[in-house]
Amino acid sequence: MVKLNLSLPSEIEDKRAYYHNLIGSSLNYVISWFKNIGFAVTLDEIITNAAVFNDNDFLRNKMAEVFGIPLNQIIKTFCGTVHNKTLYILSIKKYEAIYKTLYPDYQWNTDCYKKLIIHELAHKAHALTAIHLKGTEDGMGPRWFFEGLAMLCANQFISVSNRKMTINEIERYAREDQNELLSYPIYASMVRSLAISIPLNDLIKTADSPNFLDFIKEHYL
Ligand SMILES: [Zn+2]
Repeated sequence: MVKLNLSLPSEIEDKRAYYHNLIGSSLNYVISWFKNIGFAVTLDEIITNAAVFNDNDFLRNKMAEVFGIPLNQIIKTFCGTVHNKTLYILSIKKYEAIYKTLYPDYQWNTDCYKKLIIHELAHKAHALTAIHLKGTEDGMGPRWFFEGLAMLCANQFISVSNRKMTINEIERYAREDQNELLSYPIYASMVRSLAISIPLNDLIKTADSPNFLDFIKEHYL
């Protein structure tokens, strides 16, 4: 079993083995996913701690404290993140409630929760890769790319993001994303489309370049 300091509220203490296994297997999945595309990240670099919250406001308060920002800057539907080497995450019950509010058109199943954990761990593995390659997390590139990559890694929203976009659509969305947050399934669809003809390894290495879109246009089939 993966070594992990896991903190749980007392009311879900009886689920300790479930959470430990779920987070541990998600970690192993993310490590091998990045390994498959040519990047080495180790377990200890990603997280050594996980804190599960069974109360949305307890989690939001914790994040406000951790980030040193006012509580009202943490959105009500906040579900989780990795900060330093700790995964902060809602319990499956609380996430299910948020998921059903945010994505009423999508089917809920317990896999959605594992995908959430993988998504958050993928961001950290991507950040570490950027640091290894460029010395800074800014090397992750634009938002549409790092969100789409995390969703690709986690296999999220496959049913709505499996249509291959044209290069013009990708370019337009990439520009729009500089001004406003787009929907997550759009980000997933963009990166899924790119990954068909351009190796993820090349995309990750080029993502922070000012010529990223030119690089994409040159290689997109
Ligand atoms: Zn994300």
